[in-house]
Amino acid sequence: RGVKKYFPLHKSPFSKNKSFVQAVDNVNFSILKGETFGLVGESGCGKSTLSRVIMRLIDADEGQILFDGQDLLSLRGNALRRQRKQFQMVFQKPFESLNPRKTVGDIIGAPLQIHGVLNHSDRKREVRRLLELVGLSPQYIDRYPHEFSGGQRQRIGIARAIAINPRLIVCDEAVSALDVSIQSQILNLLHSLQEEFGLTYLFISHNLSVVKYMSDRIAVMYLGKIVEIASAESLYTGAKHPYTRALLSSIPIADPDAKKERIVLGGDVPSPVNPPSGCRFCTRCPEALPVCSEVSPEFVSISAQHQVACHLYTDQAVNGEGESQDG
Ligand code: SF4
Ligand code: MG
Repeated sequence: RGVKKYFPLHKSPFSKNKSFVQAVDNVNFSILKGETFGLVGESGCGKSTLSRVIMRLIDADEGQILFDGQDLLSLRGNALRRQRKQFQMVFQKPFESLNPRKTVGDIIGAPLQIHGVLNHSDRKREVRRLLELVGLSPQYIDRYPHEFSGGQRQRIGIARAIAINPRLIVCDEAVSALDVSIQSQILNLLHSLQEEFGLTYLFISHNLSVVKYMSDRIAVMYLGKIVEIASAESLYTGAKHPYTRALLSSIPIADPDAKKERIVLGGDVPSPVNPPSGCRFCTRCPEALPVCSEVSPEFVSISAQHQVACHLYTDQAVNGEGESQDG
């Protein structure tokens, strides 16, 4: 709730003009138990910063991360370690996220060891079971990461993530570095593990097709802010935000006869150091109104399943009765 993370830009230590990268700015959303919540946006929009704030790898400047009603940002020491067990992460680069000097058994067993689960021999047995769960031979336990392909390494990363029965797994671009044919295998693996263990995923990607395939609900992020949240179906059949529509229009479709107009956005994503005033998308929005560069749009509920932050739907533009909430 209200999560904000700015990074200071130190141009000169004597400069009075302090600038900040406004990586995440007043972000609100909730993830429901057992769902896959997709977070999509172009690179640099703040998705990874947000995931690191949730994992408490970095501290937010403001806001709350509520888990079972408890604010994680207020936890320290043992209480924080206990809660950390509930969250795991699958990283983007399967080539960099595994220690090359450790065996697969040590890598997957590390969370079990850190959290003091199981003794040495039970741990080995558990690692073999985990290898099988992610579709790898238990005989690989003494091999090193370089002996595996990218897809296999990501399976190892997933085995490590599920080792201590976490309740939330954050997948940050978990398949982006893989070949397309391997991507679907990993996505299907994540799917089946979710069904088997009732896992909850925060699934982050710049790739809308991948997010669509995985997610129950989706949040679209632009320049540090969430601009639209909807069920996957509602988003793909009736996106409201002009940015979401542009993103959707760029997904290739398999049917050559299907008519689809591609919305090409002008310009580049502005710098998060000096984001545009008002709506941050106003410099590129094909539908911008005069109010857009002045007033930041509030979130409006289109339906119970669909919220959007855009003046096209606030009473700035129409005399709608949209229920507006902070965000
Ligand atoms: Fe476009 Fe205005 Fe909506 Fe922003 S608020 S997306 S500029 S119409
Ligand atoms: Mg990222």
